Amino acid sequence: MAQLKQPPFRIGIGFDAHRLKSGRKLILGGIHIPHPLGLAGHSDADALLHAVADALLSTAALPDIGTLFPDTDPRFKDADSKELLRQAYARVRAKGCRVCHLSCVLVCDHPKLSAYVADIRASIARILRVPNDAVGLSAKTTEGTQLALKNKSIAAFATCLVMQDVK
Ligand code: MG
Repeated sequence: MAQLKQPPFRIGIGFDAHRLKSGRKLILGGIHIPHPLGLAGHSDADALLHAVADALLSTAALPDIGTLFPDTDPRFKDADSKELLRQAYARVRAKGCRVCHLSCVLVCDHPKLSAYVADIRASIARILRVPNDAVGLSAKTTEGTQLALKNKSIAAFATCLVMQDVK
């Protein structure tokens, strides 16, 4: 029996979370957000770009960024996550996939991130060379539910739709 042709779309999901600590810059979506605390991690700990990179890599069934850029490797110490995302997307492009749309959620009680949403969307769009409206982002608080503790951590979810190049 002939195999059905696969549709040219693929989806991916990514998640990441980092702890907040003093003495670090807060970088989210590739932009600096003025705040007394920043995210702890081996790289710049940009939880949103890490979730986006994992969503992208997942569309092509590639290994996640923890595997590609391990936190035991000194080359990635304080790494700029914009560059990690560019490298992750280059691997996805090499598999013939191109971003159609990203949809992301930031979970953070403090600082309030709504004022930065437009800049973060533009930043991600710039890195991936897609229009700004190909990146959706909402910034959510946890309303005291303690899913993310105030001043303790920031989490991010990302989903991605890619289209495979027509051969
Ligand atoms: Mg991370």
